[in-house]
This record gives sequence, C-alpha cells and structure tokens, in this order.
Amino acid sequence: MERYPGLSPLPDRIRRLEELACDLWWSWHYRAREVFRRLDYQIWRDTDHNPVRMLRLVSRDRLVDAAEDRSFLALYDSVMHDLDRARSARDTWWSQGERPAARGAQVAYFSAEFALHQSLPLYAGGLGVLAGDTCKEASDLGVPLVGVGFMYPQGYFHQHLSADGWQQEAYEKLNWLDAPIEPAVRSDGSPCVVAVPLGDRTVLAAVWLVRAGRIRLFLLDTDLPENAPWDRELSARLYGGNQETRIQQEIILGLGGVRALRALDIAPTVWHLNEGHAAFVVLQRVREAVETGQPFDEAVAEVRRTTVFTTHTPVPAGHDAFPFHLVEAYLSGAWGSLGGLRDAFLALGAYDNGNGDGQMFNMTALALRSAGAVNAVSQLHRDVTRTMWAPIWPGTPPEQAPIQAITNGVHVPTWVAAGLSKLFEAYIAPDWRQRHDEEHMWDAIDAIPDEDLWAVRQALRADLFAFARERARHRWTDERVGPGQIVAAGTLLSPEALTIGFARRFTAYKRPELLFHDPDRLARILSAVRRPVQIVYAGKAHPADDSGKHHLQHIYKRAMDQGFGGRIAFIDDYDLHVAHYLVHGCDLWLNTPRKPLEASGTSGMKAALNGVPNLSIGDGWWAEGYNGVNGWLIDGQSESRDQAEVDAADADALYRLLETEIVPTFYDRDSAGTPKAWLRVVREAIRTAMPRFSSRRMMKQYVESMYGLRSLPE
Ligand SMILES: *Cc1c(COP(=O)(O)O)cnc(C)c1O
Repeated sequence: MERYPGLSPLPDRIRRLEELACDLWWSWHYRAREVFRRLDYQIWRDTDHNPVRMLRLVSRDRLVDAAEDRSFLALYDSVMHDLDRARSARDTWWSQGERPAARGAQVAYFSAEFALHQSLPLYAGGLGVLAGDTCKEASDLGVPLVGVGFMYPQGYFHQHLSADGWQQEAYEKLNWLDAPIEPAVRSDGSPCVVAVPLGDRTVLAAVWLVRAGRIRLFLLDTDLPENAPWDRELSARLYGGNQETRIQQEIILGLGGVRALRALDIAPTVWHLNEGHAAFVVLQRVREAVETGQPFDEAVAEVRRTTVFTTHTPVPAGHDAFPFHLVEAYLSGAWGSLGGLRDAFLALGAYDNGNGDGQMFNMTALALRSAGAVNAVSQLHRDVTRTMWAPIWPGTPPEQAPIQAITNGVHVPTWVAAGLSKLFEAYIAPDWRQRHDEEHMWDAIDAIPDEDLWAVRQALRADLFAFARERARHRWTDERVGPGQIVAAGTLLSPEALTIGFARRFTAYKRPELLFHDPDRLARILSAVRRPVQIVYAGKAHPADDSGKHHLQHIYKRAMDQGFGGRIAFIDDYDLHVAHYLVHGCDLWLNTPRKPLEASGTSGMKAALNGVPNLSIGDGWWAEGYNGVNGWLIDGQSESRDQAEVDAADADALYRLLETEIVPTFYDRDSAGTPKAWLRVVREAIRTAMPRFSSRRMMKQYVESMYGLRSLPE
C-alpha cells in the first residue's frame, strides 16, 4: 500500500511502521505508542499523537538512524509481533469459549459516532466513546465484529470561546492524508461505492476502512464528484443541519450501511443498532427478504431474531422523530417491491411521544419493535426506559417490558494512565491488563505502597496543569487572547490543591451550575487557607443549544472572576485528548445531573479507574457503582416536584460533603505528607471500577445475553 507517492519511502528494516500507524491498535498499546514517541518526541507532541501525520513530517535522517538503532529495533520488532498476534485473534476469550451457536458468527455494529482516537474526529461525545471502546474491546476479546458508521470530513466542531465566554464553532476539513483511513475494496480489488436511493434520486457513498486490531470499521462518505453539491455535503458534519439533513444521513447509514456490507461480502448474523439513528437498517433488510418472496410478517420476524438494539437516553429530545411526509418523501425511492407494504412498514415506526406533536415516525419506536433483544445502559436507566416506552407493549406491565440492563463500561487499556499501569504491573499482576475483569485480583490493590500511589497521583495532576498551561500559552501567543482568558485557561491553578473535575456536554439537565448555587459558600470552600480547592471545567454545548451555551458562558465568566481567585479553570475544545488529561489528573470527579436523566455516564468510570473518586448524584452508573466507601453520593433527599427546591437541597448536600468530609480527608496528612485516608478511597475507586465498569464486562454481557452467543457451561 503506497499512501504517499512522492515521499521518500521508509527504510526497509522499519517499513511496517506505516502499517502500525494505520492501525489504531497502536493507540491502546503503551509500547506501540512508545515506538512513535521514541522515533521523534517533538513531532509526536506537535501532532497531538498522530503517527500518520508524523511519518509524513519526520526527517529521512531520523528514519535512517532509527533503522540502525538496536534498542529501537528491538522495541519495533516486538511491537510488530504483538500486532500480528492481535490480528490473528488466536488465544482470545472468544476463541477459547465453546460457542456452538457462534461458528460463523459475525456482528455488524451500527453507530452514527465512533470515537477511537482524536486524529479521527467522528464523535460528539459519550455515544461515540462507547462505540469506540466497544470496537477496541471486541478486538481484545476476539469477538468477530465490524463497525459501520459515517466518515464526516468536517467532523464535529472545534470550540473557541470569545472574550465574554460565548462558544463559537469552527469546522475544519479533515486532511485525508493525516487520517488512518484507506478506501475499502471489494473482493475484485475495486473501490467499494454503494448507491443509496434518496427520494427520487440516487446518492453514491464511498466506503472507507479504519483498522483497529482485528476490528474493521467501515465509514460511508457522500463527498464524491459524481454526487450533486448538496448531496456531497450530506456526510460533511456530525449532527450538522436540520431534520431533513438528519433523515437523509440516517437513510444513508441504514440502507447504505447494509448495502456496503453486502458489497464487501460480509454476512452478519447479528445486527447491533447502537441508538435509533441506524434503525433504517431494518427497512433495507425487510425489503431484501420480501424481494426473495418472503411474506412481510415473516421478514420482520426474521429481522427481529437477528437485531439487537441499545437505547441511550431518557431525554425525549434525544430520540429522533420525523413527520411522516418527510419519511415518505425521502424513502420514496427505497421501497422496491416493499412498496405495497409501505403502510405496514411505516406503522412499525409510528409513535406518539406525548409532547403534543401527535404520531410521528420515531426511530426508537422502529428499533424497539424490530429488535429481538433490547437493552438500556444502566439498571436505573432500564427501569426508566421500561416506563418511558410502555405504550410499545400494550398489556404488558412496565416492569415486565422486554428491556435488559447492560451497564456501559470503558476500555481499560485506553483510559488507564501509564504511570498507574506500571504500579499495577509491579504490585497486582504483570498481566493485569489481560485479566482486569477478575474481581479478586484487585484485592491486591492494598499491596501498592501509599507513597508510590500518591506519587503517581501527584504526577498525573502535574501533567494536567502542564497541559493546561501549554494550551494557554498557545492561545496567548498564536491566538492573542486577552489576559483574563489566560487565567480562565487554568494558569493560576496550584499544583498541590484538591482539584475537582467537571467535563461533559453543557446542557441543562446536567446542571453544570449547581456548584454555584451559593457563590459565597463556594468561594469560602475554594479559598480556605491551607486547604484550597480548585475546579477544572471542560465541555462543548451542542451548536443549536443556546441554553447550554448560556450555562457555559456563566461558568467561563466565573473562571475570569477575581472573586474566585483563579481557582476555576475552563479548558476549551473538550475531546478525547483533553479527556485523558482530565480523568487522569483531577482528584475528584463531579457529576450533578437531574435524576434520572443521566442514562449511564462514562467519564466518571474513566476517572474511577485512575483512582479519581466520584462525587455524584445517584444517577446512571453511580446508582449501582457507589458502595459507601469508593467516593461520595450527593443526595439532597428532596421529595419536591419543584426543580428549584431539589436544586437547593442537592447543592446544600454537595457543599456539606465538601466541607465536612472531602476537603478534611484530602488534607489529612501523615508526617511524610501522605493522605492515608484519602488513598483508601482512591484504592476503593480503582478496586470497584476496574472489573465492573470496564468495557470487558460489558462486551461479555452483550455476547452472552444479547447476541445469543452463549458459551457452553464449563
Ligand atoms: C467519556 C467522554 C464523554 C462522555 O462522558 P459522560 O460522563 O458520559 O458525559 C464525552 N466526551 C468525551 C470526549 C469523553 O471522553
């Protein structure tokens, strides 16, 4: 594969560096990252860890040196050996299980977002991170899965903040040469392009391939010269545009995705729809079956036997619903011989969600009615979902609605800091990564000496501040922002102070301003002599969510307000890269959603894995994750229906925990300066999060209880 004609080729001895750079497997393997870091640390930093771009920038001399450097070559050889092994998928959990139902199994995982690495900006937030972590875990476990999604050449937006804290969105065109993608090809070697009927026209979608270990991810892209200019833009941006853009994107993902798999000779036995965006997969499959002569009801039943659906939010606006005329207009070319059964199909999606719009074509309703296995993403979310969608199963009491709970998890090798990982190797087990979901193994966490654990926690906090400072320097010198914004960027943070992290999408239900309910009380907590507290915020608001942008602006103004002494920071342009620094480097992770609207939440899990205890409302994962000693539960115990009263009670509970428990525990030090009691909470956070809130536990549950691929009892 010659990606960069005209550039000097890699020296033969290290020729496979390009293959390594183009397989995102490197991103969750520490030693693989080390290969690039050692090749040229400066370029590695300058490219925000993008090895594809790096290989274009690194000098020929450096490459020649590396090809003769014995210690570099030893690392290179062993990493390439590991990559080959990972791809072969021998000796995996999957290959070792006796799975009679699983011979020839192939899972197709459809998602509108995939967050694998910051160099491939195909995600807006939590949904994408979950999809990315799922792919990585499937690779590690050897589960035969392919992903299907969208290539957004302009991705989601970069966030800039004006001097008065108003979010501005900047879309940047992806430089294809810098991205770890290649054209997907059919068995005859020709590039894979599929035709998708859209209204009375046909739109072509090219298919790109992303490699992640043994997983392949296929991405649809309508930016082809054969398409009309407006069609070329359809896949330009994630969640850009209005309902019309959205329904067209979803038709391309659903219909085009199935067609792409057919063209590539991939025959899924399980179709997993990650959120309702992909539910048009069902239409394409029913149509295919009807065209082979199957009656409609049988076709739907067959689809149901092989479709799995995960729903992700109890917030009504998070479920796409389209007026029927829009669906009719854009599906008019898609029916084929299903045409006469159009009403029957539309009925599968018909739903009145009670918001006054009457019946609409609801993508979640379509998925719920046509999936044989449905899950919510935490136990509490399952209960809420059963009630929310009860009308789908008339006559069934909500508590018996066929929805399971599979609580989300996060990919451990991706999210655990390298410094901690080394401690685990030394004190837990050298192969702890391969066994991290074994609960008992983590009892050994007490073997890590307090001083070592604390030294790593301190170093991670220092890394976060160094990162924030460098970013601020960049804004100061390159973007010429004012001094107030430099303070807001975190330049006055103190290296030793208790640091609270709050990073997530800015939207009303997450109550980003709860902490400011009583600003004077907060200011007293932050500026206490000898026991200072500081807060680091990050997050984007959806471009169309003005209320979210107002919340963000209020926080930003607090960060510039002298009254808080430079102890509040806002790190702009939250993405995977920023998320890593935050979940590693904060001391405490704050989450204040309006219960029960947080379906799961995963940033708190990432924090907990790194010994960053949670301080959270008992919503989403924390309702089942909190055990009394691994963090803190905010519970204002208000039974009121009045939101303002609930907010006041929750804020008071939050302040009280900080004043009476958290701050005193953090600053209670022994003669060597080690916070013994704090470290007990740190250990508990790690011990409980690792096995239970990892994507490993999650993926095994999907395989065994959703995909119908149980292993034989041992
Ligand atoms: C983990 C993550 C999220 C999701 O966090 P929540 O706690 O679920 O809101 C969103 N964005 C990024 C960049 C993440 O890494």
